Amino acid sequence: MTTPDPSEPLVALVGAGPGDPGLLTRRAAELLAAADLILYDQLVPRRILDLANPAAEAVCVRDLPTQPGDKYPLIYGRMIDAAKAGRRVVRLKGGDPLVFGRGGEEAEALRDSGVPYEIVPGVTAALAAAAYLDLPLTHRNHTSAVALITGHELPNKPGTKLDWPTLARFPGLLVIYMGMARLPVIVAELVKHGKPADTPAVICERASTGQMRSVSTTLAELEGVRRAAGLEAPGLILIGEAAGHRHPVSWFEARPLFGRRVLVTRPRHQAEGMMRAFERLGAVPFSLPTLEIHPPADPAPLDAALAKLRQPDGGFDWLVFTSANGVHAVVRRLAHLGRDLRDLGRVKLAAIGPKTAAALREYHLTADVVPIAFIAESLVESLREHVAGKRVLLARANRGRDHLPVELAKIAAVEQVTAYDQVDAVDPEAEAFAALRRGEIEFITLSSSNAARALLARFDDTMRGRVERGEMKLVAISPETGRVIRELGYPVAAEAGVYTVDGLIEAVRRLAADEVISDPSSR
Ligand code: SAH
Repeated sequence: MTTPDPSEPLVALVGAGPGDPGLLTRRAAELLAAADLILYDQLVPRRILDLANPAAEAVCVRDLPTQPGDKYPLIYGRMIDAAKAGRRVVRLKGGDPLVFGRGGEEAEALRDSGVPYEIVPGVTAALAAAAYLDLPLTHRNHTSAVALITGHELPNKPGTKLDWPTLARFPGLLVIYMGMARLPVIVAELVKHGKPADTPAVICERASTGQMRSVSTTLAELEGVRRAAGLEAPGLILIGEAAGHRHPVSWFEARPLFGRRVLVTRPRHQAEGMMRAFERLGAVPFSLPTLEIHPPADPAPLDAALAKLRQPDGGFDWLVFTSANGVHAVVRRLAHLGRDLRDLGRVKLAAIGPKTAAALREYHLTADVVPIAFIAESLVESLREHVAGKRVLLARANRGRDHLPVELAKIAAVEQVTAYDQVDAVDPEAEAFAALRRGEIEFITLSSSNAARALLARFDDTMRGRVERGEMKLVAISPETGRVIRELGYPVAAEAGVYTVDGLIEAVRRLAADEVISDPSSR
């Protein structure tokens, strides 16, 4: 994150792009991460808000108090008041703020009240639909012009600003925003003014996300084909020669998990990487954090252990971390106590798995040993030669498997300390949980035994039935997590071969591919 420059404006009109968080500009991401107030349009993809400063106040403009007439003065008022109070404001709009987003009017209101602002462009829906459908917007041989058109205005009604006779003759591709509800009138108007009925046409709903759906047809057939396919707003209508040159299956539709719905159960602060990985694979990921990490309710034992760590004698020889959370918790606690990493200088460090070792590296610490398999049993084996007869401090969660300390205690003098508390955090009111309850999620990834316990404790009989019938599939990060799931009476659809988040993602991918091959008619 960049440090804000005091001369920078406090208000930014920001394009959120069409849906895929990967299409956010770097400037938009910087501003979101630093914002105090985010005023977002209803159409803004909710995933984009995951990238905002968690402490920011996020308000959907739809939820501003209602008043007769135009809502916009209310939005202006909120922006202006917040900026005058010194808060950093992001006014977030779907796509680009200046393409059918009333960004121009909002900028004018800010100018009028003397509030400085900046404007950050976004990927507008037309560009997203073209790229994700593999449909060139322009082409040297047949399309030299593109028109962005609002379909919101009723054609053939007095007061329309659109000149349909001219649009019907437009020598290029027509891209119509907000036109789904008025599609029959739009088609009739274009045909009436001479647009050939067999002009190629495409409709694209939710471009750039795993929920993208589209149809290809001709101008005359558009409404019938739309209705048969059940496409609804928000969608984009593309009419013209270029629409006939679309690749039948785009690169995005060919992604291995295109359209498949996946649940991510990691804690909120750790979910983003997995969410992005699934998005890049074409999936529709849902985040439902099952666990939260808190500082230990009673930090006294951790403080005492840390004090012992820095003693030249009577302290410890090894400090063993069982998770990245443990590493961050210890370093944070040291900082809280006014100490620093030098306090760890007397001990050797062990990290259970590559993610834990990577967390140490974030603080320029190198693990002295990183066991290759990522379960407690093999950790003991790889530690044996190092720690036998030594004094070991094990920094762990308030709850965890007892296998590691028990086994370690057979070969070394082990002291355990709670570095952080792990708390069940499934929110039954969350949108992801509602989707789960409605049976709308196909793959449920369980990234730890405690995640599995926390989530499955919330399942009712209907949900259990869906898992038993294979409609919802539980995918476990390791055999140990698989064992816990079976113990709770649920079938496991797949277990990761490598016990990491990447291994878990790979397991979903393989499961999805297998099913396509074994029973292509099942969907
Ligand atoms: N400022 C936005 C457009 C706002 S008008 C932009 O630049 O994209 C809202 C209309 O945009 C919707 O009715 C729909 O026609 C279109 N739209 C927005 N996002 C879309 C998406 N992901 N896929 C298809 N159409 C989209």
